[in-house]
Amino acid sequence: MSKPHLVVVEDEPDILEVLSYNLKHAGYAVSTALDGAIGLDLIKKTLPDLVLLDLMLPGMDGLDICRVIRGASHTQHIPIIMLTAKGEESDVVLGLGIGADDYIAKPFSPKELVARVEAVLRRVESGNSPHKNTYCSFDGLTIDSVKHQVFVGYSGVADSEVKFTATEFRLLFFLASHPGQVFSREQLLNSGFGNDAVVIDRNIDVHIRAIRKKLGVQAGFIQTIRGVGYRFK
Ligand code: CA
Repeated sequence: MSKPHLVVVEDEPDILEVLSYNLKHAGYAVSTALDGAIGLDLIKKTLPDLVLLDLMLPGMDGLDICRVIRGASHTQHIPIIMLTAKGEESDVVLGLGIGADDYIAKPFSPKELVARVEAVLRRVESGNSPHKNTYCSFDGLTIDSVKHQVFVGYSGVADSEVKFTATEFRLLFFLASHPGQVFSREQLLNSGFGNDAVVIDRNIDVHIRAIRKKLGVQAGFIQTIRGVGYRFK
């Protein structure tokens, strides 16, 4: 599996450097932004595994960014750790109320930082994240992971329910939860969608073929990336 990707948004260059250095050293891939609006853009584009978010930022503050992340279906599942300075305790409470997963008070030790990031990522991996994505909606396709229902239709109207097997459903939902991201067959197998089934590499192609057939007019949502794997458009 590739390294977990973190986005860090912090406007103090020295602190950003310390964060970035320690997280990279701990084995994470790190992207950074010094400005709130640029940071949000980066988060939307890269859909990271976790976001470290300073509260007071130029451009757009941490609480507003948190709200936007939780409000959009393709980013709502991304875990967020807030970075706070002394005296911002009331903002921390507010932050946790609108969906931050944890907070780290400055100054922090590198050890504590890495431990907190690890803990939140572990919680998400084990499926105990409160922001687990349950619903994906696109033009002509709606997937509800709670009711296990998929509706397909022409542009603008996803109105006919299509039945998928449990494996097909999990694979489709996994891809649809990460739009734009390319996954190799191996990554898809490791993604947990095949948890309780022994799926061999080749089988991914079989499942994808079945999913495409059932998606009918919307089969184009699943794209083959030659030599790499698959992507949800
Ligand atoms: Ca700041």
